[in-house]
Amino acid sequence: MSRLFDKILKPQRLRIVCNGHPALRRVSSPITVVDDEIRQLAARMIVTMQENEVVGVGLAAPQVGVNLRLIVIDTYFDDEESKTAMSAGEILLNPRMPLALVNPEIISYSEEKCSSEEGCLSLPEIHGDVERPARVMLSASTLEGEKIMVECGSLLARCLQHEIDHLNGVLFYDKLSEKEQKIADPQMKELEKREKALL
Ligand code: ZN
Repeated sequence: MSRLFDKILKPQRLRIVCNGHPALRRVSSPITVVDDEIRQLAARMIVTMQENEVVGVGLAAPQVGVNLRLIVIDTYFDDEESKTAMSAGEILLNPRMPLALVNPEIISYSEEKCSSEEGCLSLPEIHGDVERPARVMLSASTLEGEKIMVECGSLLARCLQHEIDHLNGVLFYDKLSEKEQKIADPQMKELEKREKALL
């Protein structure tokens, strides 16, 4: 009974595609109308991000094989450290997470950069340091059509840049040092082999 109930009401997980799937290397198209199909996709992406062996802080539509400019994020952790010096974006968006953003865009970057370790649900077991601008100005819409324009910092800024890169066919692997790329290469090749076998 409850399983049937779950099946009807709960959005179903989607398969996360890995390195080697062509959707990860395409430039995704803007969303012109947010209809039930887009809302359903966003709901399924949120479940997919959360109910994974490794819980993600963000997921972009190309990672489920859909080349549309849609991302979901969940970078809010209810701990003391996250509450100090929150950016305007964190103050605005944290209470709404997990959150879907439609046609997200970075319209400006801080000169200050910072480096931190990243991973990606489409590149399992690969990690490495990526240098990115510390703060970004985000422009996006919500599923309800609200326009957002806000400065974001910390993990939120990093996650937005990583996910928006996906919409442009860019993977965090591309931004690793040559040395870290070399370390990741055997796993990248293995993932590609497995993904191509599924296509
Ligand atoms: Zn990723």
